[in-house]
Amino acid sequence: MSKYITNQIMEEAIKALQELVAQPSYNQSPAPKAPFGKGIHLALNQMMALCDRLGMHTYEDPEGYYGYAEIGEGKEIFGVIGHLDTVPAGDLTSWSTAPFTPLIKDGFIYGRGTQDDKGPTIAALFALKSLLDAGLVPTKRIRFIFGTDEEILWRGIAKYNEKEAPIDMGFSPDAEFPLTYAEKGLQQSYLVGPGTDQFSLHMDNAMNAVPAKADYAGPRLTEVKAALDQHGFKYKDHGNSITVLGKSVHAMNAPQGVNAVLRLCIALDDVFDFLPLDLIGKCFLEDATGENLLGRVVDESGHLTFNISSFEVNEKETRLQIDMRVPVTVDHDKLIKRLSQKVKAFDLTYEHFDYLAPLFVSKESKLVKTLMKVYQDVTGDTNAKPQISGGATFARTMHNCVAFGGMLPGVPDYMHQANEQWSLSSMAKTMGIYAEALRLLCFE
Ligand SMILES: [Zn+2]
Repeated sequence: MSKYITNQIMEEAIKALQELVAQPSYNQSPAPKAPFGKGIHLALNQMMALCDRLGMHTYEDPEGYYGYAEIGEGKEIFGVIGHLDTVPAGDLTSWSTAPFTPLIKDGFIYGRGTQDDKGPTIAALFALKSLLDAGLVPTKRIRFIFGTDEEILWRGIAKYNEKEAPIDMGFSPDAEFPLTYAEKGLQQSYLVGPGTDQFSLHMDNAMNAVPAKADYAGPRLTEVKAALDQHGFKYKDHGNSITVLGKSVHAMNAPQGVNAVLRLCIALDDVFDFLPLDLIGKCFLEDATGENLLGRVVDESGHLTFNISSFEVNEKETRLQIDMRVPVTVDHDKLIKRLSQKVKAFDLTYEHFDYLAPLFVSKESKLVKTLMKVYQDVTGDTNAKPQISGGATFARTMHNCVAFGGMLPGVPDYMHQANEQWSLSSMAKTMGIYAEALRLLCFE
């Protein structure tokens, strides 16, 4: 255990976390100066007041999109990027405690946000306080940046980047230890083409998940069923309609799932003559690395993942939804050009929806080397290696920033779930790692 993380500092951190969890802060309808609703606004106010009390200089965006708190002097800024919004409580009957009445019991703190991301953010903040209490003096500006819209569209942190000074180095305490140095680029798009009167498909699927089901109730059902049988694809027969069955996984792991929409389209392509269907039935097939369409796209961060989550057709239009996780060193513009070219052969036009650039900080950088050494020294886990992720954290929104903790290996994942909880011993250990990291990177 770090010598800086005293019982006193733990008590203060736990109290601050309880107060913060007690302020519900999930996305609600906008109000003046509260673009993501009152709860998030009040949580931001509360955090600003807390940082004021810790002797930090605070700034709250007048429009209410973000806030930051800073201590230390100099040109250089070291950033710690967390978020104060949470997902809603969800089904209350699944909780054994009240989600916004934090409870300490048997060495755990319970409540929405204890793991994601109020707990880790408070842990990093009080790690800083522990160093200041010990009389250490920062050699640069240490800036805690508080996002307010991480769970939805990242509009808060986008505003920060539009209006404020960039950081020179930093970490985001919103993932797992040891450290994530590479997150794939995230491209969400549509492919759009002509409609048909032969059949229609309507779906309401999320972009970021492999669909586990695909319904069909149109013409030539017997032939479609025969095609499914021939491919060995499972489906439920409801008489006048069918549901093709797959296995849902997150889009970042698409090759490990079974995509029901692709399976339905492969069968439909055997029955109907419709060029956009050929994209799936004759080219893409079921390979969610996209290799059949784009060739092999791979680097040290892994394969391209290519999730087609819906294929909608009516008389006027065909529309596919796609979610691609692009390896960190791949030229994104070239890839999109290639995709646009390839789909033209199937009467489809590429349409951009959203793009998040990748995170990539060299494993040989001072930041990664220092944080990895701290993690190994504090935990004794000398085999730990920096990680690659298909997911997305705020780290990618900032220059020279990685995701670092706050969840230790083996800590059960309660993020976004009922009974969210974090063990106080894990919290203390996480604080010790953060204290040592900040000491080495930001103090004499
Ligand atoms: Zn989070």
